[in-house]
Amino acid sequence: MSKVDKMLFSGIISHAYIFMGPEEVTTEKALFFARKINCKNTDISPCGFCIPCRKILNGVNPDVFEVFPDGSSIKIDQVRNVVSSFAKRPVEAFYRVCIFHESQKMTRQAQNALLKTLEEPITKSIAILLTDNLQQLIPTVVSRCQVYDYGFGSESAKLSPEIRKKLAGILKKTSQGVLDVELGVMEIEKTGQKAESILEYFLSLYRDAVAVKTKSRAALINMEQEDEINGIAKAAKLSAIISALQLTLFQLKAAKGRGNINLIWHNLLLGLMEVMGNSHDSRCPI
Ligand SMILES: [Zn+2]
Repeated sequence: MSKVDKMLFSGIISHAYIFMGPEEVTTEKALFFARKINCKNTDISPCGFCIPCRKILNGVNPDVFEVFPDGSSIKIDQVRNVVSSFAKRPVEAFYRVCIFHESQKMTRQAQNALLKTLEEPITKSIAILLTDNLQQLIPTVVSRCQVYDYGFGSESAKLSPEIRKKLAGILKKTSQGVLDVELGVMEIEKTGQKAESILEYFLSLYRDAVAVKTKSRAALINMEQEDEINGIAKAAKLSAIISALQLTLFQLKAAKGRGNINLIWHNLLLGLMEVMGNSHDSRCPI
């Protein structure tokens, strides 16, 4: 069981989750979760052989259903159908579970329809939103869900604790609007680490900040940087953190495409200062 799984299963069951990461990974996790909470054999759940487990494995459990985009989007009617079924008690399982695949494709109206259910949670009904793009979801939806990240890369594991601490401090300063961008770029470059490793680490810090904001606190990947993460979560709005996450992802793509690394750091830090909503004097020439 992965670190994220352990955190997920150690907590009290929530009524709404977001699983971030590649579709095939999050789908497997969501179905595993549905089996785990509905399994009759709690000691070894999911056992895989009790009736609820078998029905979920075969896709015939009447309380576990999946919503896929209809064409290019998940539409309001699809969400309404689910929402109305959520009001009923589970037919035979302990929990009714609805998995929204590619939830970033939900139309705005569909998200608003879902929001009402998330605001007035119906016990025994659980929504799991799978996504690889948090920014497409409206922040009020994200804030009602516990966010778990299954897209954590391995690159950032190569950074030493001292470098991690230093980098986390830089992000905290951007969220507080007190970073000198030139100095920040110099400090990042001085670490001598690969841009991909640093950017993946930044991504994981922002994902942790989202977790703090959505109260899935136990889900922190970078527990050792809890102070900095809390600092970011305290200083910035959820929508700003999501934008920062997206910006970092954009620069990670640029780095993988062998873009100019110095320019990437400048763009990143300037962009972060901007999305964090702080005015700053830009002495950077770019
Ligand atoms: Zn079972």
